[in-house]
Amino acid sequence: MKYLPLFFDLRAQHCLVVGGGVVALRKATMLDKAGATISVVAPDISDALKDLVAKGEGQILPQNYSVNCLEGMSLVIAATDELSVNEQVAAEAKAKLLPVNVVDNPDLCSFILPSIIDRSPIMIAVSSGGGSPVLTRLLRSRIETMIPAAYGQLAHFASGLRQRVKEGIDSESGRRRFWERVIEGPIAEKVLSGSIEQAHSMFNKALNEREQQLQGDVALIGAGPGDPDLLTFKALRFLQSADVVLYDRLVSDAIVSLARKDAEFINVGKARSNHTVPQGEINQLLVDYAKKGLRVVRLKGGDPFIFGRGGEEIELLAENNVAFQIVPGITAAAGCAAYSGIPLTHRDYAQSVRFVTGHLKNNSCDLPWQELVAPAQTVVFYMGLMGLQTICQQLIAHGRASSTPIALVQKGTTPEHKVLVSDLANMPTEVLLHSVKAPTLIIVGEVVSLHEKLQWFTTD
Ligand code: SAH
Repeated sequence: MKYLPLFFDLRAQHCLVVGGGVVALRKATMLDKAGATISVVAPDISDALKDLVAKGEGQILPQNYSVNCLEGMSLVIAATDELSVNEQVAAEAKAKLLPVNVVDNPDLCSFILPSIIDRSPIMIAVSSGGGSPVLTRLLRSRIETMIPAAYGQLAHFASGLRQRVKEGIDSESGRRRFWERVIEGPIAEKVLSGSIEQAHSMFNKALNEREQQLQGDVALIGAGPGDPDLLTFKALRFLQSADVVLYDRLVSDAIVSLARKDAEFINVGKARSNHTVPQGEINQLLVDYAKKGLRVVRLKGGDPFIFGRGGEEIELLAENNVAFQIVPGITAAAGCAAYSGIPLTHRDYAQSVRFVTGHLKNNSCDLPWQELVAPAQTVVFYMGLMGLQTICQQLIAHGRASSTPIALVQKGTTPEHKVLVSDLANMPTEVLLHSVKAPTLIIVGEVVSLHEKLQWFTTD
């Protein structure tokens, strides 16, 4: 971070603008909006600038800049078109430890001015550190359109009621949750549409009913296969309001780090047959945290209902009357297939797709092999790396051609995404020639042959 964004209280502070033209006027107007007392020094000062200065207690100094002008100032902006003057202002202001900005010359500045989205009292500052004003402007206009003009009103509404909420709700996390519901719900909608009175009565009602709202809840969230961009908006929203986040090994750090920073994080990570926290205990933890009144996020790789034991976790919640929601995620099959250019179905090759667990108990053959060799079908094996040899052998033994293409996708959608393509006969030996990292997904079927033509995602 090259610059730290700070919000400067300039009310009634003396600020000096050096320069009398259009740019100086723009800067002076901004200082004026912030309530500063502005003085302007320049041999030639425009009428508009003079009018602006005349509004306050500042001075109009129709002369060349000299160091005396800095006397009593809290902040200086140099906006002349003469480099030597700008340099002199910068040097002398810095010598007096005054914050100084030189327009369009970041090297001479001790602070730079951001692009501002003003929804007072909400202020959003955007800066590229002087590197790309165009990018900054584009970003600013995007943010302008994203944030309703009446957002300032919402902030006023909230700040006026802050004390009451503080008195009404004891716990900090209870207050935060209450505010989140106000600001993301119908009360805020009323404020934004100008029905302040109605908003107030809804607010009073909500505060009276807060007991009910203080109950905790659990969001069972699918985090997708790895790429954080594949998260849903809903997942992100829940993550950002979580009190506790329980996540497992399959969820990447990049995704976990999107959660609210002061949430409690619990890694219940599961390596294959090495459960860090036994499933029963995880189920119980969810219940216990929710009963404490906390917002619990249970973050699982892919989709929680596909080989994710999501069902077991919420069964206990349901039995204990804990409120829960489920947010679907992109399952590994969908993510790996898309990022590998392997369509799971295709009119010419496969009319159906099956998701199967390849985690074979005691290396047994209890999968319905007969069904898995049906023609025009893609079969996706989750957790299949260990059983890869058995899978290939059994598919061939039950009648699938040994030349059937098969893909092994390593760490799909992540920067370590890799695809190994072979056929049923050769994959078991092929895989030994490569060091493969978990998690991996196996895709069997003619559609795999499209990978060569349709692959687009490369990590090199
Ligand atoms: N609920 C998850 C699956 C959990 S089972 C989902 O819907 O995706 C764990 C298995 O998922 C792993 O053994 C592996 O086969 C597969 N898997 C999950 N993420 C993966 C990824 N990024 N790349 C490849 N396979 C993945």
